[in-house]
Amino acid sequence: MGLVGHLINGESRSDAARVQDIYNPSTGEVSRQVALASKSTVEEAVTAAEKAFPAWRNTPVLKRARVMFKFKELLEKNSDKICRMIGEEHGKISHDAKGELLRGIENVEYACGAPELLKGEHSRGVGPGIDSWSEFQPLGVVAGITPFNFPAMVPLWMYPMAIVCGNCFVLKPSERDPSSVLFIAELLEEAGLPKGVMNVVQGDKEAVDTLLTDKRVKAVSFVGSTPIAEYIYATANANGKRCQALGGAKNHAIVMPDADMDNAVNQLLGAAFGSSGERCMALSVAVAVGDEAADRLVSSMKEAMEPLKVGAYSESSNDFGPVITQAHKEKVVGFISSAEEQGAEVVVDGRNPQVEGYENGFFVGATLIDHVTSAMTSYQAEIFGPVLQVVRVDTMEEAMKLINDHEYGNGTCIFTRDGEAARFFSDHIEVGMVGINVPLPVPVAYHSFGGWKRSLFGDLHAYGPDAVRFYTKRKTITQRWPSAGVREGAQFAFPS
Ligand code: NAD
Repeated sequence: MGLVGHLINGESRSDAARVQDIYNPSTGEVSRQVALASKSTVEEAVTAAEKAFPAWRNTPVLKRARVMFKFKELLEKNSDKICRMIGEEHGKISHDAKGELLRGIENVEYACGAPELLKGEHSRGVGPGIDSWSEFQPLGVVAGITPFNFPAMVPLWMYPMAIVCGNCFVLKPSERDPSSVLFIAELLEEAGLPKGVMNVVQGDKEAVDTLLTDKRVKAVSFVGSTPIAEYIYATANANGKRCQALGGAKNHAIVMPDADMDNAVNQLLGAAFGSSGERCMALSVAVAVGDEAADRLVSSMKEAMEPLKVGAYSESSNDFGPVITQAHKEKVVGFISSAEEQGAEVVVDGRNPQVEGYENGFFVGATLIDHVTSAMTSYQAEIFGPVLQVVRVDTMEEAMKLINDHEYGNGTCIFTRDGEAARFFSDHIEVGMVGINVPLPVPVAYHSFGGWKRSLFGDLHAYGPDAVRFYTKRKTITQRWPSAGVREGAQFAFPS
């Protein structure tokens, strides 16, 4: 059985003191194992990054950007292979894996603009003969810790920008689907990145804790669930590191009575059930304003869900694939049952889907639950499965209060034809990423991505302009070259 190992200082390594099984979620079978790095293996990776840093930092930014241009080409050339690897370990259908990879590549394209992004700020003549400028210098060794649900894209939010800014990187990907991440990192070497600038360590808490406490690691980017994000943020800060930790979500869509219902239903289908609902931007709650809108929404959704196909990643005609593990399937099914027990109505029940030929796969069918209330467990928790819950309210204000009161604030959307209502919504909703008739308002690579409330711990969002700031430290230089022969006396007043 194959073992997925690490990439340290440009070499493939397998520190296999401990291993963990990797599943093919479509078949339910163990496909290979992943090596779990020990503390000393992680320390070796940090050492490699530390050694590579001085030369990489001093490499002209245009040369660093050229590696990214080549990397982009290699990602495109190897796209089918990468998507197959994602499908096999994550369960994503190829059209969805391609979308993920494309969004990841957009971040590499943004990183190609580093010479422009790192030009700094310059002010001439801030005083007599005095010029001042700010430079953005790299931090040193930085680390990324990433979740299973976007094995290619989320790491690509981090290391292209970190590296092109002159840092060296240690990535700890999810141990559940690590193969595509490792393969992509190897492409960076092929693109001409010097050894040690990019390192990958597979692992679990032991690897993460080593990165969080090693004084040589200057910053940590994390994406994952909220309890772990909170832990990462607190521990990184306690160890003097810069940290951005993106957490979980519960994304609501308000469906107004004037919405184009056919459009809203189509958008909700993809946003709620795409990737089996295992997206941090998945729309998992539809808040229908007024019973008439709610009845129309539920009956149209029910009809539109009938032809949806859940199945193996390898069949491109499927709409979405399995969830990541058997344990996660049981958790999702448990949330559906709890909603039913607490008084909600399961309108379309995906608890027991039949997928011919894949009887042991971790499948949950598309599920629609009506009459959900904010008191229910299934409403409060992030389900992370193909489940859309409908909450009925009387007014838009009530819908917005529901969203604002929720602990998460990642994404949200409103379906309406009323521009004034949409503007009020985007002005006052306590959520970081807002869609107006756009169900998955994931910002493009040249903006930044991040939620509010308990969906993000830290100040700067991921990728885009915020990433330039996160992965660099500002240095401001003030310079004067006094004219020969002109000597000023000492001044004791504060310079102004
Ligand atoms: P997770 O929190 O279980 O794992 C994320 C990473 O943390 C993994 O690399 C894992 O190995 C590590 N980890 C897990 N437990 C740890 C522990 N006790 N100590 C130290 N490290 C630990 O998340 P997941 O299940 O892989 O991913 C799904 C979650 O990620 C969902 O909650 C989803 O909303 C969230 N997510 C958020 C965003 C966002 O941008 N906000 C994007 C994608 C996913």
